[in-house]
Amino acid sequence: MRDSFGRTITYLRLSVTDRCNLRCVYCMAEDAMFHPRAEVLSLEELERLAGAFIRLGVRKLRLTGGEPLVRRGIMSLIERLSVHLRDGRLDELTMTTNGTRLAGYARDLAVAGVRRVNVSLDSLDPGAFRGITRFGSLARVQEGIAAAKAAGLAVKINTVVLKGVNEAEIDRLISWCGEQDCDLTLIEVMPLGEMAHAGRGGYLPLGEVRRRLERRWTLEPSPLSTGGPARFARVAETGRMVGFITPRSHGFCAGCNRVRVTCSGSMHLCLGREDTADLRTPLRASEGDQALEAAILQAVSHKPKGHEFVIDRYERPPISRHMNVTGG
Ligand code: SAM
Ligand code: SF4
Repeated sequence: MRDSFGRTITYLRLSVTDRCNLRCVYCMAEDAMFHPRAEVLSLEELERLAGAFIRLGVRKLRLTGGEPLVRRGIMSLIERLSVHLRDGRLDELTMTTNGTRLAGYARDLAVAGVRRVNVSLDSLDPGAFRGITRFGSLARVQEGIAAAKAAGLAVKINTVVLKGVNEAEIDRLISWCGEQDCDLTLIEVMPLGEMAHAGRGGYLPLGEVRRRLERRWTLEPSPLSTGGPARFARVAETGRMVGFITPRSHGFCAGCNRVRVTCSGSMHLCLGREDTADLRTPLRASEGDQALEAAILQAVSHKPKGHEFVIDRYERPPISRHMNVTGG
């Protein structure tokens, strides 16, 4: 799959649910609305959809959400998708999770062939963690991380940096990730949904965070690239990587290799734009996958050149959907 700017699409982020057992302040409203069940793709439909993308050249599949581990039957989907790891059509099957249910799933994930997971964790202070997630338990997430490591999964921590909330904790997170043998990715908060204005209040440019970190840590530039918005450095003192995801900068769009599909079958060609393509209709129109594959190829040919996160110019949030819908 190649778009009109010559970028090859090899990475799919597939949201398996828009529901979640947490309500992170920058991601979801407390009384968040979810898709009606009839619009949510069944596990069989998600499998067919992923299969079509894999036939068209996707080599890396990340399950996300909402919280993927709250989707009933998720392990049966993962087991069926893992066939493609064994037949060599998929290089990686992975997941982004809030970690709250990881303790119960870690072993099964490892047995299915998952090698690493991203766990979102914004604070090591139980009270601050609860404040950010509205009711999450830090201890449960830490148990999940420990179980994942015990099962042999590599764990990368994702931290959204929020001004005045966890900005003073980043040094501690770097040390802790070093002790845990985890890489860390720092994420700039993005202006999504009605949380945009809350997000704007918490926005702290990662360039500033990096300058502060460099006073204490030796950050060695790393050529590691995932085709995404992260820039990586190696922390000499811990030996672990730290990544900086700065979605508001346009620097990464030229190498973008990814697309996203929501749990209701909307394909998003760019996280920062409203352009979508409906895959649910062709998916449900026939049992064969011809129309579905044609719709995917047609959509990819329209992948936009770059994104539109310029919140200061907008009265209203520029992107009206929430991250739990597109999956981050
Ligand atoms: N529930 C899972 C989790 O939290 O890891 C997967 C879905 S979550 C939407 C994926 C990632 O998006 C998380 O790392 C989360 O912190 C991040 N995220 C959510 N809303 C965001 C926002 N407004 N700006 C930046 N990152 C955001
Ligand atoms: Fe749930 Fe993840 Fe969004 Fe937090 S960031 S509310 S854990 S989907």
